[in-house]
Amino acid sequence: MKLPAFEYAEPDSMDEACRTLVAQNGNARIIAGGTELLQAMKNHVKFPRLLVSLERIPSLTEIQYDPGNGLTFGALVTLDRLADHADIKAGYSVIAAAAQTVGGPQLQAMGTVGGNLCQDCCCIYYNRPPDLRKRQGPCYKLGGGVCHAVKRSPGCHAVYSGDLAPVLIALGAQVTLAEPAGAKTIPIQEMYSGNGAHPLNLKPGQVARKIRIPEQGNRTGGAYLKLRRRKAIDYPLLGVAAVISLEDDGESCRSAKVAMTGIGSAPVAIEPADKLQGHPITDDRLAEVAEDAHALARPVANVVGFSPRYRRDMVRVYVQTAVEQALADARTKGDPQ
Ligand SMILES: Cc1cc2nc3c(=O)[nH]c(=O)nc-3n(C[C@H](O)[C@H](O)[C@H](O)COP(=O)(O)OP(=O)(O)OC[C@H]3O[C@@H](n4cnc5c(N)ncnc54)[C@H](O)[C@@H]3O)c2cc1C
Ligand code: SF4
Repeated sequence: MKLPAFEYAEPDSMDEACRTLVAQNGNARIIAGGTELLQAMKNHVKFPRLLVSLERIPSLTEIQYDPGNGLTFGALVTLDRLADHADIKAGYSVIAAAAQTVGGPQLQAMGTVGGNLCQDCCCIYYNRPPDLRKRQGPCYKLGGGVCHAVKRSPGCHAVYSGDLAPVLIALGAQVTLAEPAGAKTIPIQEMYSGNGAHPLNLKPGQVARKIRIPEQGNRTGGAYLKLRRRKAIDYPLLGVAAVISLEDDGESCRSAKVAMTGIGSAPVAIEPADKLQGHPITDDRLAEVAEDAHALARPVANVVGFSPRYRRDMVRVYVQTAVEQALADARTKGDPQ
């Protein structure tokens, strides 16, 4: 498929980038690695008149670890750098694990943190060339008045399938958004609207600039599990991230966070702390958390791969296994020598 015509801008500062995006009144888009956006343009589902690159803006490719304060990285850090950074592998290995599951090596070399977090929601009726879409006409996500995936649905169920978001949510990450008036910092999950047609709560001119993750402390472990048909290239049909911290006794749970992707129009955070915090994590408590997660999952038949029923059934298994793996990881992280 041919790319539609577009103009290209490379502003020198974030201020200029935000102002350029606002001036285009919704007809401009940020381009980072381009691995998702250019495909959407080739499929003629997006027609930005202007692509705004962030490449010339300083500091967006930096990764910094400050002991006691935590980890910060810029939106243009590529996924392969994230997976290979010594401080991330040492203190936040669950991020590296998730980054390594995105697509394949080529996508990890080009794909960025900002693009991964801000990717669009997917649907087989939307992510395909125009000649294949023609017969059914436009759905909600393309400005029409129907959903082809869920008949008589009042809205769009396109699925959020980013691998990094659940991990960053489970780690308590915040994103700094640059905007023409300055900047603001919000918890990552607030960036997602839950509406498959317009998945991000970002206004034109708002740009994800950097991610900050608090120090995780001793005896904290994490795990990311991804359900997919093949071990490479495929998006998650379900992804579960778990981050568990243990008290000094090495058994009682100090904090627990679990988040999922690939089963709804936004990443879903589960709050298992009330069931797990202050106690050892027993099989019974873990089964209750898995049941809560299962109740929150809403997969529909709009992605290629396993059926919605199978994906939903696997939520229990994946949540349970991810927490067990995070717990095992936490037990290996004692006091620093
Ligand atoms: C075959 C294939 C397989 C894939 N598999 C996976 C997978 O397994 N897991 C997964 O998570 N993704 C997958 N992807 C999606 C995509 O490649 C990755 O998510 C990648 O990390 C996107 O990053 P990018 O820099 O290329 O984004 P781009 O394509 O440049 O941008 C994506 C979107 O984010 C917006 N954007 C980019 N940067 C910012 C910013 N700083 N602030 C605000 N908005 C911004 C862009 O305007 C655009 O709308 C796959 C894609 C393909 C083609
Ligand atoms: S879920 Fe429905 S409205 Fe949304 S993209 Fe798919 S077919 Fe269109």
